[in-house]
Amino acid sequence: MTTSTERWIRNYVDGEFIDPDPQRSFDNLDPTTGALVGRVHEADSPMVDRAVAAARRALHRGWADTPVRERAELLRRAANRIEERFEEFVAAEIADTGKPITQARELDVARAPANFRAFADIAAAAGQESFLTDLAGGRQALNYAVRKPLGVVAVIVPWNLPLLLLTWKVAPALACGNAVVVKPSEETPSTANLLAEVLQEVGLPQGVYNVVHGFGAGSAGELLTAHPGIDGVTFTGSSATGTHVMRTVAPRVKPVSFELGGKNAAVVFDDVDLEEALTGLTRSVFTNTGQVCLCTERVYVQRGIFDDIAEGLAERAARLRLGAPLDPATTTGPLISQAHRDKVLGYFELAEQAGAEVIAGGGIPELGTALNAGSWIEPTLWTGLTNADRPIREEIFGPVAALIPFDTDDEAIALANDTEYGLAAAVWTNDLRRGHRVAQQMRVGISWVNTWFTRELRSPFGGAGLSGIGREGGESSLHFYTEPTNVCVQL
Ligand code: NDP
Repeated sequence: MTTSTERWIRNYVDGEFIDPDPQRSFDNLDPTTGALVGRVHEADSPMVDRAVAAARRALHRGWADTPVRERAELLRRAANRIEERFEEFVAAEIADTGKPITQARELDVARAPANFRAFADIAAAAGQESFLTDLAGGRQALNYAVRKPLGVVAVIVPWNLPLLLLTWKVAPALACGNAVVVKPSEETPSTANLLAEVLQEVGLPQGVYNVVHGFGAGSAGELLTAHPGIDGVTFTGSSATGTHVMRTVAPRVKPVSFELGGKNAAVVFDDVDLEEALTGLTRSVFTNTGQVCLCTERVYVQRGIFDDIAEGLAERAARLRLGAPLDPATTTGPLISQAHRDKVLGYFELAEQAGAEVIAGGGIPELGTALNAGSWIEPTLWTGLTNADRPIREEIFGPVAALIPFDTDDEAIALANDTEYGLAAAVWTNDLRRGHRVAQQMRVGISWVNTWFTRELRSPFGGAGLSGIGREGGESSLHFYTEPTNVCVQL
């Protein structure tokens, strides 16, 4: 039963928000309190067909051939419009995720206009490769590549940084002349719809941006990736889902870009400035309640400073302020859902069974009646585990890290690389030669020295091993979102 006061989150297809079907809907809950935020209309197979067909028509109607400077101009207008409606995006992101307002403003929503501007600039400035080829008899051939849009791109994104990750993919896809069908996480459907409004307001042709809501397997996510009408998939999410998507896409041999999970290491050397390292580690372990693919879950500390780092980090973990997202003093929100909290608590149990000593947190906090129904969890730190233990091998995706001592540089590198994942690493040292050397030896997509989550949107971003396939960012995005044709002209 729907009531007129219910807030509906609708599918957006061919430039229109579609009337919802109450028989095919699910709840969107506020993770801070468990309260209902709105009802989401789950897209069925005909809805996904409509979205893919609308995207295809939009390409044929001329979007794919629009000059790049016009597309870039439209992206810049979108960036401006997001800034005009900034607080609406902040409120929507908070309602879906419960993240603290300072983070929603400074990280999540701030990155959306930055993504649109960066890819407007990158696409507008891009050149083409060309080669003069020497032929027999002193003749030559001119080779050049024409880059054409990939076509209809399926964009599948997770719930942890919903708008940031969505615009990181939609901006370059549109800049390159593609049409997209987006499937946000069922936990965080709202900002994808606000973005639809913004793109409509700035004049994006109908059908170029479509949103279908729903779940993964057996629902909108799988219907979209299995659809014969899509030309490629860009996916951010867990490694397990990535392998499922890969299998679904394989029979049609479509290009995929996968930004998957991480089990990221920090390596802290004993020459480090302790305060600086502790501040950095606190951010890298606990930002977004540990729900960032780049978060540190393994902290390797040189033996001489192990106790100082353990005590300092535990003290900082205890000082984090869990609470209502709209309170500017709140530093830490809840986990995204009760189901995710159950998963994280499962690792708390496994750590205990493996003999971990809990030096911070370790349970569910008491926050008072209004918040107790939310999916809260204490920022947690362990010592006493080794690389053989499951909580060190598997991605937990919560506000939790284990501290493990090491003696030599080589041992630290070996421990950090002893994982099937390969997304990010952070090296903390005051010896820059050591910093460069160790950072380069990390088998990861991004290796930071004395910083964390510092992003340059023109740089390639992605992961090795279980953490992904391919790179996006800068020219790498242009490569993924276009299909080159090499033209060879004998001169
Ligand atoms: P999931 O893999 O569960 O989901 C990601 C998206 O895929 C969601 O929209 C989900 O829908 C959808 N999905 C699920 N199953 C399928 C399927 N069979 N076919 C198509 N789509 C499907 O990840 P989470 O949402 O739990 O996000 C957390 C994960 O994302 C972590 O592993 C994290 O490390 C990773 N991540 C990686 C980043 C990177 O850049 N490398 C950045 C951020 C996060 P629904 O949610 O509705 O089920």
